[in-house]
Amino acid sequence: MKILISACLLGTCCRYDGASKAHPKAAALAERHTLVPVCPEQLGGLATPRPPAERQEGRVVTKTGADVTEAYRRGAEETLRLCRLLGCEAAVLKERSPSCGHGEIYDGTHSGTLTAGDGVTAALLEANGIPVYGESQIERLLK
Ligand code: SF4
Repeated sequence: MKILISACLLGTCCRYDGASKAHPKAAALAERHTLVPVCPEQLGGLATPRPPAERQEGRVVTKTGADVTEAYRRGAEETLRLCRLLGCEAAVLKERSPSCGHGEIYDGTHSGTLTAGDGVTAALLEANGIPVYGESQIERLLK
């Protein structure tokens, strides 16, 4: 099937710190499925590198207090638009990210503390019926 995937998991250096987060099982996933790479934060117009940000009471705020909610929202909507346009049936997204995280994200205090919740893009995809998997669940898509 066609699967949307966080570009950083494929080795693209699109993370906030200019690094990637290449996943060892990404190649196996690409052999079995058609992968469509996206970086919602770049699609929302943010630069790379960029200040780290976390979800905080309905907003997304950088470590220095800048409100970047609008860019995160725009990136989520662009990702959903591409998902629909290209017929993706699922998404594999980077865990704990304020955009891509699913089920658990940082709590907005920029202290490394995790809390229950979803990134902005993961939440929008799920609300529109797209199943979201974290990278620790890739094995489920290889069976
Ligand atoms: Fe990776 Fe998603 Fe962050 Fe982009 S927004 S760097 S795809 S976790």
